[in-house]
Amino acid sequence: MKAVVYRGNGRIALEERPRPEIIDEKDAIIQVTLTTICSSDIHIRHGAVPRAVPGVILGHEFVGRVVETGSAVKKVKPGERVAVNVETFCGECYFCRRGFVNNCTDENGGWALGCRIDGGQAEYVRIPFADNGLTVIPDHVTDEQALFNGDILSTGYWAAKIGEIKPADTVAVIGAGPTGLCTMLCARLYTPAKIIAIDTDEYRLRLAKEKGLADMILVPGRDDPEEVIRKVTDGRGADTVFEVAGGGDTFQTAWKIARPNAVVVVVAMYEEPQTIPLPDMYGKNLVFKTGGVDGSFCQEIMDLTACGKLDTEFLITHRCSLEEIMEAYDVFENRKDHVIKYAVKIRG
Ligand SMILES: [Zn+2]
Ligand SMILES: [Zn+2]
Repeated sequence: MKAVVYRGNGRIALEERPRPEIIDEKDAIIQVTLTTICSSDIHIRHGAVPRAVPGVILGHEFVGRVVETGSAVKKVKPGERVAVNVETFCGECYFCRRGFVNNCTDENGGWALGCRIDGGQAEYVRIPFADNGLTVIPDHVTDEQALFNGDILSTGYWAAKIGEIKPADTVAVIGAGPTGLCTMLCARLYTPAKIIAIDTDEYRLRLAKEKGLADMILVPGRDDPEEVIRKVTDGRGADTVFEVAGGGDTFQTAWKIARPNAVVVVVAMYEEPQTIPLPDMYGKNLVFKTGGVDGSFCQEIMDLTACGKLDTEFLITHRCSLEEIMEAYDVFENRKDHVIKYAVKIRG
């Protein structure tokens, strides 16, 4: 089968690999029908994810069809269409029992797919703990509508959930990339009065506004986010801030635009260490919550997708086949042609 393999040292390649097989009774084999590229794949390519293993098949955001299940798998059956959770987890350890599946202590626990074990930029993939990591897609939900269920939409959903948003709050989201847009979409579920999107990319901001995800858009450099947000909140600042950009100074913006006693959720993955200037923020009594996602709400997300309350199809701006994925990597990484997300079709 064809698969995108991380070769180490900044190199990836589309290669021929053997089809995976069941090795544990809790495994399932999925025939991938639609996959995508995530910015984490780019981080791996650049060597910014030290635990990524050279030789691994990339891809942790995809949907497919179950073709085979191990003897202990109960929830899913061959033939069913499923969305795959970015995180594999045992469901039984200390952290799993509390919903903190990102820190599952199993050797395959947490974000392993497409990083430490073979992922889904391939024709077939083996999923450990299949009963925990697979969500059945209802017949009337398309592959494209379900594609982001297990990764970026899970991230936005988790972020919004821990953001403690109250009705009529003012929410600020820094970063209008795919995950930032998902965060805005999920923040809406908590009925804030205003969502303010901040990014340097005006095209992405306009998209956020057009799709009703943001009520107000701010471009640092042109607008002064700190000043504007203070003005529209009677001098207070934002009630909840989501930092989803991971830029050079975006963490500093995040705490500055927050009101006293606000929750600042840091979703972004940085390539450099960040500074928390405690003397400057003394008395502001902020609460910081940091990522990565605990992907334990895939069923809820699928239910909300099925009834039209969460719709991420608009994120798909580009489509191609697995044979064309190397070109797609170039377009996605270099943000050519206003790309937000790719849908990569795999011919079965
Ligand atoms: Zn990802
Ligand atoms: Zn666990």
